Amino acid sequence: MQALQQQDFMALVDNHPRAIMLSTTEPRIAYVNRMFRSVTGYHAEEVLGQAPSVLSSGLHSPEFYQDMWKSLSDQGRWEGVIWNRRKNGETYPQWLTIYPVQRAGRQFFAGIFTDVGDIAAADERLASLAYYDTLTQLPNRSLFQEFLKARVSQRERDGGCFAVLYVDLDFFKSINDLHGHECGDQVLQQAAQCIQSVLRKGDVVARLSGDEFAVIIELQNDDDLESVCQRMTQVFQAPIIVSYREYFLSASVGAAVYPDHGRTGAELLQNADRAMYSAKMAGRACYRIYSAVDNERGRHRQRLSEALIASLKTAPEEFSVVYQPQYHLATGKVAGLEALLRWNHPEFGTVSPADFVPIAEQRGHIHELTEHLVRCVLADLPERLGELPQRLGLAINISARQITDSRLEALLEPLFDRIRGVGWTPEIEITETHLMNLSRQCLNRLREFGEQGVVVAIDDFGTGYSSLAYLHTLPLHVLKIDRQFIWRLGGKSGDSRIVSAILGIAEALGLEVVAEGIETEEQRSKLQELNCHRGQGYLMARPAPWGAWEDDLID
Ligand code: C2E
Ligand code: MG
Ligand code: MG
Repeated sequence: MQALQQQDFMALVDNHPRAIMLSTTEPRIAYVNRMFRSVTGYHAEEVLGQAPSVLSSGLHSPEFYQDMWKSLSDQGRWEGVIWNRRKNGETYPQWLTIYPVQRAGRQFFAGIFTDVGDIAAADERLASLAYYDTLTQLPNRSLFQEFLKARVSQRERDGGCFAVLYVDLDFFKSINDLHGHECGDQVLQQAAQCIQSVLRKGDVVARLSGDEFAVIIELQNDDDLESVCQRMTQVFQAPIIVSYREYFLSASVGAAVYPDHGRTGAELLQNADRAMYSAKMAGRACYRIYSAVDNERGRHRQRLSEALIASLKTAPEEFSVVYQPQYHLATGKVAGLEALLRWNHPEFGTVSPADFVPIAEQRGHIHELTEHLVRCVLADLPERLGELPQRLGLAINISARQITDSRLEALLEPLFDRIRGVGWTPEIEITETHLMNLSRQCLNRLREFGEQGVVVAIDDFGTGYSSLAYLHTLPLHVLKIDRQFIWRLGGKSGDSRIVSAILGIAEALGLEVVAEGIETEEQRSKLQELNCHRGQGYLMARPAPWGAWEDDLID
């Protein structure tokens, strides 16, 4: 058999299915094969004699390259994922192996790589899992931190600025809880695409964990940041569709700018996270740019959160319940009571449920919170009515996230039994913002409650996105109009259109309506005029402990 010629080896290397590059120690590119051109977009003559850095994306830090060279000299080899830039400017991840080659007294480095974004590169993709999130195919937290470090050292040199965005999906957990993880995964994949659709060349997005994403964006001018943040929140206004079902998500976005809000990657990410938090606190579905004030608030909140969890476990005496009556507007007679939880902490004082309920929800302690509520109400409500009025309603607030919790029924049973036992009617109130994402399982739960004679009310109605078509399918009995619409009733600019519209909807669906937050005589008489059924508010009565009502109710 004839020995192979040098040209045969050339042909072998030239046609190899991986991109191959040889560089000198200077370093200069000395050879590239054909696949090199398909991956990078460069012709051989454009890169021969150039430094290999023409290919680099600028996404990696100087330390990254130092480590690479160290492992080459210590172990004779480097292998891993590196982000490079194609001729057309696109950055892409490649799986790269580098090793030294000696020949005729000269030293070269051989680099063999594949584009891991390419489906054909299945093995390398697998190897690169340590840097990628398998669900969304986005870089993971550790790769993002690497990119962030690189961007900081690049900007230290050239003085430019960029921003880090922290994007957290609102209500995503309830999709997971209510519809299962498979559905949650698909929603996440689409959410990742939504985020990517907002970005431009040179921007980087990663999935940090669960429903949290982070983005690096280049800032060219002063308006850039606001407009990207705006687009980022707007892109979630349309529902995400999975298997023909619509899911309503929104995103809370926080931003921190280099160098004003942090000089290291870690600091920037942390401050973007804090800014995201204040977007959540401002009602979600919006963005906030970091400010030092947020930082202070964030620390306060962290302490509050720790205190709440400790108190839930060890200090039942700090929790109590107050009751606010609801009245029939036509007669002025008491229709029922709403139980509202109170938390009194030795250091923080009286904390509003508007602050501690969301913390308990987020940290997964809402069940314990309801346990305290039930315990307090059972301690207040007597087993026999005595002189108390008959047939009142007693309402409690339930977080939507709790509805499918398997422990809920057992928790509420003794309370509902006691309420029914005295001839009153148990009611549960669920805030509207969570409604659109209720699963069939959840609706069934509500239906079961209904069948057991529990009245189901939608709280803060008008603040969410409930469509009429959807309301129609819900097993509910009462709408509570959010107080912002009641407040618009009074004064010169008095606007009763929304309240009238809600009353119209309720009539068509056979629901009872409660107006909450009535503070003035003017609002009450307007509501009476509009034939609103029930009302609740400081004008008639503020929430107060049971003892304060007992006598009043008897009168
Ligand atoms: P909500 O269910 O809409 O309760 C009504 C809130 O409006 C109460 O605030 C009440 O004190 C207040 N309010 C009543 N009348 C007026 C008025 O005329 N003017 C004004 N400005 N406010 C009025 P509170 O007690 O601070 O509760 C805030 C929210 O916290 C509640 O809103 C409810 O969503 C939640 N919450 C309270 N207790 C519980 C609980 O036990 N479990 C759960 N999951 N959530 C609770
Ligand atoms: Mg309520
Ligand atoms: Mg309300």
